[in-house]
Amino acid sequence: MTSGRLRSAEIVAIGTELLTPFRSDTNSLYLTARLNELGLEVRGKTVVADDRAAVESALRAALARAEVVVTTGGLGPTDDDVTREAVAGVAGVGADEDAAVLAVIDGRFVRRGRRMPPINRRQAQVPTGAVVLPNPNGTAPGLWIEVGDGVVIALPGPPRELQPMYEDSVLPRLRARCGGVVLRRRTLKIAGRGESDVDEIAQPVYGPWRQAEPAISTTILASLGQVELHLSSQGEDAARVDRALEEAVEALQAVLGPAVFSVDGRSLEEVVGDLLVSRQLLLAAAESCTGGLLLGALTDIPGSSAWIAGGVVAYANDVKVRSLDVPAELIAAHGAVSDAVAEAMAEGVRRRLNAGLGVGITGIAGPAGGTDAKPVGTVAIAVAGPGDRCVVRTVRFPGDRVMVRQMAVRAALNLIRRVLTDADYN
Ligand code: ATP
Ligand code: MG
Repeated sequence: MTSGRLRSAEIVAIGTELLTPFRSDTNSLYLTARLNELGLEVRGKTVVADDRAAVESALRAALARAEVVVTTGGLGPTDDDVTREAVAGVAGVGADEDAAVLAVIDGRFVRRGRRMPPINRRQAQVPTGAVVLPNPNGTAPGLWIEVGDGVVIALPGPPRELQPMYEDSVLPRLRARCGGVVLRRRTLKIAGRGESDVDEIAQPVYGPWRQAEPAISTTILASLGQVELHLSSQGEDAARVDRALEEAVEALQAVLGPAVFSVDGRSLEEVVGDLLVSRQLLLAAAESCTGGLLLGALTDIPGSSAWIAGGVVAYANDVKVRSLDVPAELIAAHGAVSDAVAEAMAEGVRRRLNAGLGVGITGIAGPAGGTDAKPVGTVAIAVAGPGDRCVVRTVRFPGDRVMVRQMAVRAALNLIRRVLTDADYN
């Protein structure tokens, strides 16, 4: 039995079905969240087939890297369920039938007026020295067994069995052994800058943190139109870890400037909504190539009725003219995808819908419709208001139709944010 504090964990998901396209290992997401709450950093995850040698080798590798190894699946009664044997093998112990476990399994069948099938007897095999974790929601009990300096915790595959077992039997035991260590995370969300751009600016700042005390590790993640910097730190003094992360967030904000739109988990839509609320403005949108996706994203947020007026999907030029008062001559002179038309759409929808802020989006999502001067991916975005202001941008996005439309929405949201946070932004 080890007395040292546990700090790191690995997860081994066992099940041949998890190596097919039909089932995914969601247990490890649940487990990662719960282990993190105890300050345990999840260093690795492995998915293996129901094969004793494969499971043993995954367990040995995981135990060489982490102190806690949690397995899921393979505790059933059938031949392909090999977790019990593999755990005993790795621990170097034998297994015996446990009369109490057998009685519980038998009792489950008897209560339902059935006889226990002989194969279920296997589930009463307990590796020597293992603690049995009761399973009130199924027949397969879990196992907790010390192996060298580490511990292996074997849990059943079905989430409705695994989760209560974790809560009732694993959490109290782990908490007693992890005591005091916390793992905290902070996220900076960045818009309007590419991943390599962000890394180039931020790397000199976060590089030295890896050697600091408490050390801060950083991950950079790019998704459509957005870059995220994830910071995490572990330590026994929670206040100190929180302070170090707060200082790190501030240092990154200082170098990245207004490109950082969120340090508290809020999405870009939520940030825009909060800005509209604080400025007491209603937003109206006129969308051509995005077909309502901007208002879709904004109205996904509960309570958006407080700051959204509505909008017009003005796909045809005729609708731009009749519903938004865009002068037909303007379209003829500049083309439907132009700064001038985006501005007229933003002004028009603002006036028609009686809103404080109007947004106009017009672009070429493709695959057809591009020209040399205005290739596929060209999108003009305008924000009219507050007051007389009108800010307009024409951007060229890479990618296919789906990507262009999504990027246009992200860019429009970011433009709204910049207009609302910086009176001089133009
Ligand atoms: P059982 O007593 O039900 O046989 P078991 O421990 O042997 O329990 P498995 O047979 O491996 O579990 O899996 C049973 C079901 O649990 C699977 O069909 C799947 O739906 C679910 N499951 C297994 N592993 C996972 C996983 N890693 N993530 C999410 N679901 C899983
Ligand atoms: Mg299985």
